[in-house]
Amino acid sequence: MPENPVKYIFRSCKEMICDIVDFMAVSCFILHRTEDIMREINLYNTLTKKIEPFVPDEPGKVKMYTCGPTVYHFAHIGNLRSYIMEDVLEKTFRYAGYDVKRVMNITDVGHLSSDADSGEDKMVAGAKREHKTVMEIAAFYQDAFFEDCKKLNIKTPDVVEPATNCIVEFIEMIEKLLEKDYAYVAGGNVYFNTEKLEKYYVLSNQKEDDLMVGARDDVEEDTNKRNKTDFVLWFTKSKFDDQELKWDSPWGVGYPGWHIECSAISMKHLGEKLDIHCGGVDNIFPHHTNEIAQSEAYLGHKWCNYWFHVLHLNDSTGKMSKSKGDFLTLSLLDEKGYSPLVYRMFCLQSHYRKPLLFNYEVLDNVKAAYEKLRKKASSLKKEGEVQTEQIEPYKEAFAQALGSDINTSQALTVIYDVLKSDLNEAGKRALLEEFDEVLSLDLTKEIVKEEADADLAAYVEDMITQRQAARKEKDFAKADAIRQELLEKGIEIKDTREGTTWSVRGDAV
Ligand code: AMP
Ligand code: ZN
Repeated sequence: MPENPVKYIFRSCKEMICDIVDFMAVSCFILHRTEDIMREINLYNTLTKKIEPFVPDEPGKVKMYTCGPTVYHFAHIGNLRSYIMEDVLEKTFRYAGYDVKRVMNITDVGHLSSDADSGEDKMVAGAKREHKTVMEIAAFYQDAFFEDCKKLNIKTPDVVEPATNCIVEFIEMIEKLLEKDYAYVAGGNVYFNTEKLEKYYVLSNQKEDDLMVGARDDVEEDTNKRNKTDFVLWFTKSKFDDQELKWDSPWGVGYPGWHIECSAISMKHLGEKLDIHCGGVDNIFPHHTNEIAQSEAYLGHKWCNYWFHVLHLNDSTGKMSKSKGDFLTLSLLDEKGYSPLVYRMFCLQSHYRKPLLFNYEVLDNVKAAYEKLRKKASSLKKEGEVQTEQIEPYKEAFAQALGSDINTSQALTVIYDVLKSDLNEAGKRALLEEFDEVLSLDLTKEIVKEEADADLAAYVEDMITQRQAARKEKDFAKADAIRQELLEKGIEIKDTREGTTWSVRGDAV
């Protein structure tokens, strides 16, 4: 963080100076680039149900936690909407000059088909579906998730921790909850006793029955529970006996409940106080409500100050969900000709706190707009002097948009304003490069080369197919001629057991 300017104000009363410095450090959070743009980041906080200035616990530092994917299937584009918007949030903090530590879990055990502790473990169901082990399923879909993130320019969090790595931490936390009498053992399982809390529904004012609907899928009554809202911390008994991954515990061989993982993983890497916790809106209840219950019971003090929730992506049949089976993935969109960054722009065009309806017509418009925008932005020349004074109002407008509860569509409007302006090309380019640190749309990335690369790949693949056909027909002269033609263009092909591969030699072509 830059030196606080208030420190330079001289006052005879020492105390008064200290008060002002403290006030600035705590409440005047800084959206600060080297050029002194200062803005608050105002965020909607699900906990207070208000838009309020973001003030981290430690000045200049943000401790951020994100609920990661349950890796039993591909992420659908709804899940990815949440991760895109959380990525923009993280990058907004960084752009503002904060030092961010972001942690994300990978749910590879304990998330049952209903969020309310009933049904089969989603991972076990995934393993059965694909005749693989749970760990094979987890590894495959975790890789697939990060592949999608990479294509969407989503930054990997500083710490990514699978739940199965932290069994010791879960057990330690559950033991303390039992010791403090916030938990009880019944029917072989350990439950959190929600009755012990003064207020359980801290994140929502809705009625209990409405909230149980939010818990998705079938909600079965568990007769071991003392209260309807109690939740499992550790299972040793479930009607699904074929749980694959189990661990020894003081309560018998079993496995952790889903909610405990996020509390314990957050505390393991971020300590006892968390600034901001993110997830999709379906996580508010029961997942985040239960996280708060057990974390604050365990710690004996407030745990997390800000809760950031992304509204759902819906399709014509309602909320997109993995359990419905029929869902859209990023690769499917890619196959249909919509590049991942077109989908990112589709998400950025609407506010994260509004439900977003997926629609191909809108996506087509976004695709056309994105391609036009990128063509224009990437052709801006770098040469020339950046007029630092003239570009300032645009930076301010951009910072203002993001600082207003992450208003990404307004931030995109600033980009168009820059392009329409009479700034010189170097200034426009510098601004777009800076804004792209947050929006990550590859606005100024060279597309000429990418297009040329795609054309080359299509040409070589076609030649390889023709050569294979020639070889099949035993027309070896033609096959050799094709190889020779490629060689003359500097392209070398190799026949391997997996098929024919190709590479470009040196700086040929
Ligand atoms: P899961 O892999 O099911 O644990 O979900 C990963 C993340 O995606 C969580 O933060 C969910 O709240 C979020 N999510 C689930 N469905 C949607 C949706 N249709 N739109 C946006 N986010 C979603
Ligand atoms: Zn979580």
